[in-house]
Amino acid sequence: MSRNKKSKRKLLWIVNSMLMLLTVLGVILLYALLNDDQSDSNTTSNENSLAQQQADSHPLTTATPEPSIEPPPSTPPYTDAVWIGVGDIMSHTPQLPGAYQKASDSYNFNDVFAPIADIIAEGDWNMANLETPMAGKDYGYTGYPLFNAPVELAEALWHTGFNILSTANNHTLDKGVTGAINTLDHVQAIGFTTVGSARDVEESERSVIVKQHDIAMGLLSYTYGTNGIPIPEGKEHIVNLIDQERIIDDMKKLRRDGAEVITIALHFGNEYQTTPSDAQKTLARALIAAGADIIAGSHPHVLQPYEMVDVIDDQGMERQGLIIYSMGNFISNQRGDSKDYGAIFRVDLRKHYDTGRIEIKEVTVTPTWVHRYKPDANYRYRVLPVEATLATKDDALLSTSDYATLEADFAMLNKRLTSMMEQ
Ligand SMILES: [Zn+2]
Repeated sequence: MSRNKKSKRKLLWIVNSMLMLLTVLGVILLYALLNDDQSDSNTTSNENSLAQQQADSHPLTTATPEPSIEPPPSTPPYTDAVWIGVGDIMSHTPQLPGAYQKASDSYNFNDVFAPIADIIAEGDWNMANLETPMAGKDYGYTGYPLFNAPVELAEALWHTGFNILSTANNHTLDKGVTGAINTLDHVQAIGFTTVGSARDVEESERSVIVKQHDIAMGLLSYTYGTNGIPIPEGKEHIVNLIDQERIIDDMKKLRRDGAEVITIALHFGNEYQTTPSDAQKTLARALIAAGADIIAGSHPHVLQPYEMVDVIDDQGMERQGLIIYSMGNFISNQRGDSKDYGAIFRVDLRKHYDTGRIEIKEVTVTPTWVHRYKPDANYRYRVLPVEATLATKDDALLSTSDYATLEADFAMLNKRLTSMMEQ
């Protein structure tokens, strides 16, 4: 081997060794990089699956996650709350004996509303039209035409989940001014917020605002009249009468006092008419245009259609209001010509924190039927959700012909309710 050859070999060895070293370093670097990518994508997919699981509200079955992969706490950009409204709470004479409890000399109406309690429980503002005074036992319990119902009827509504009563209607003064005041005493003692009648001027001028899930709802209630029973002079505060200008002023005051959304109960329209009158439409639409969000109508004792109305407010923004012309009878002894039906109107509201605006996200209407039956000498009553009752058809108290009637009426009512939405 020549010296020249030897040194050439040595050079080759050095070059080879360096190449090998570089290759090894390169492989190590590549491995490190790949590993890093992999661990990143693992973290991401863990977070995704956790978020997915939470969104699906399935229980988390995996081990406690590392603190590093918990999503950062954040404020949602909106808040949701639910308004629920039902129609007339009537107390006709035949409704009383079946609810009477001899042992305690009292009444219990809890069974009447039990079948729809789950639906009411989903609401935050749960409102009904109390179409009878609850003046007290001393006044005697009476049905049509001058009502006075046991306060236990309101207790049953409270027990069912209702928390707001509209008290302005044509029967507010059936037992006089004192009867109307006693009614407020009795139902407010149970816990109800009332709107539409007042003991004195101060109470009548007080803004009724109920906050739920950070949404402040202002409530108003008015009636077309009091069945010819005169409102005594100086007692004008006892019940609110419909007067468009006054209602608009009251709405402005509610907004000044912090109401973010406004619901107005209106006792108006013609009895037993299944479509709203021109007067109903004109007033309700004017009030939506003036800033009301929900109009909750009652008095016709039958369901009337509801409609969504688009308006442009004074800031040039588009807004939608809901008008329910008549919510029908929620509980009564009236039968036939769809007087034995009512509906639970559910409105899902959403407040967007960035703009402060409140939108009506969804309106859900659940028709209800007052089932009346006679297991003994006295009638019993139950408010049944029609669609759910038809879905199971397993109610021991209902016959095949009951189901057939319900089926036909359900189709008829849905058509009526949505008839103004399809125009
Ligand atoms: Zn009425």
